[in-house]
Amino acid sequence: METILVLAHTETDGSLAKPVREALHAAATLHKSLAGSKFVVGLIGDNVQAAANSIAACPATKYFGVTGADFSQSRYATDAAAAEAIVKAAQAAVVVAPATSRWARVLPGVAQRLGGRADTHVTGMAATDGKISVSRWYYRQRMEGALTRTQRPWFIGIDPGSQSACDCGPGAAAVEMVAVSLTVASQRTTVVGLREPKADAQTIRPDAQLLFVTGAGWTKKQADGQTHVPEAEKLILDFLKHTRASLGSSKSLVDLGGEGQAVLPFLSHLNQIGQTGATPRHAKGLSTCCHGEEPHTVGWRFINERRAISLDPNCGWARGKADVLYVADAFAVMKKVNELQAKA
Ligand SMILES: Cc1cc2nc3c(=O)[nH]c(=O)nc-3n(C[C@H](O)[C@H](O)[C@H](O)COP(=O)(O)OP(=O)(O)OC[C@H]3O[C@@H](n4cnc5c(N)ncnc54)[C@H](O)[C@@H]3O)c2cc1C
Repeated sequence: METILVLAHTETDGSLAKPVREALHAAATLHKSLAGSKFVVGLIGDNVQAAANSIAACPATKYFGVTGADFSQSRYATDAAAAEAIVKAAQAAVVVAPATSRWARVLPGVAQRLGGRADTHVTGMAATDGKISVSRWYYRQRMEGALTRTQRPWFIGIDPGSQSACDCGPGAAAVEMVAVSLTVASQRTTVVGLREPKADAQTIRPDAQLLFVTGAGWTKKQADGQTHVPEAEKLILDFLKHTRASLGSSKSLVDLGGEGQAVLPFLSHLNQIGQTGATPRHAKGLSTCCHGEEPHTVGWRFINERRAISLDPNCGWARGKADVLYVADAFAVMKKVNELQAKA
């Protein structure tokens, strides 16, 4: 009988972030299809009662907690000690955790301590004839592989955004506290604060509903024979401000800077999507001024509804890559869209 443990950390306000609910959904589904399995939850944070109560209606039969000020911040030594203690207390065989930056750097080390194994970037879990398998993508998201393991405990990091979130409602959960004795050395590191770009400067937003992709066309000569880069910059930033969309870019556009051409200053290679860029996951995508060559639509595979605005009716998107193609001038369309957004 396998015990499936979902391991989660609380946010600074004591709540659970969406990736936790995604991991819960994936683990609960696995538990359902794995006859005789047990399903438990382990929570780490300053105080985890509110978090446990917020998901009390999930099918977990037991909640474990490691609490205290030492466990409120992201710190390898204390997070690893807490995870190790909960896995042991729960006698967990399969440990499912959201691959937040906090867990991603800790759990492979905990697997090593416990003689287990860890798999990262998992996007699916299944059980067939009592055997668990996980799936993940390889070769820049072009091939999907499924694998099984006999080694336990098996730590599985679920890629945020790859699962639907469980809608387990609130209730009253009884949390069994697990004691962790910390050495002085493990408490040496302290998080003194968080630095993040201003909301307007932060253009990569993994949780956004919409991915807005910009292509090199924004910097090309337009019908009047001139480039309109400052206007493009304003249209794009205004749209992001109104919609809080995440900003993606084609490789051509981010490369232009290196070639000494006029570019949009807020774009970096971190914004690039595609074969040699990122493969973000969003409910919707809107590409503007992109030619959208076939191999680079790889970055769009995990976008559910795809739309594009391009002047060229013969581009790859026109041939069925986008759900909706607007053959139009993106400057004119986005100007109108921004006017409507401003009124909304
Ligand atoms: C090994 C390798 C790896 C690569 N990896 C990637 C990758 O990961 N991601 C990636 O994106 N690319 C990648 N590329 C580059 C890719 O092949 C294309 O060159 C690139 O994606 C094209 O970018 P683009 O569509 O922005 O620019 P362009 O091909 O220049 O297209 C610009 C488009 O803008 C349109 N346009 C111009 N003005 C307007 C307007 N006013 N309104 C509407 N439309 C307008 C034009 O009609 C045109 O279709 C890679 C290439 C190689 C060789």
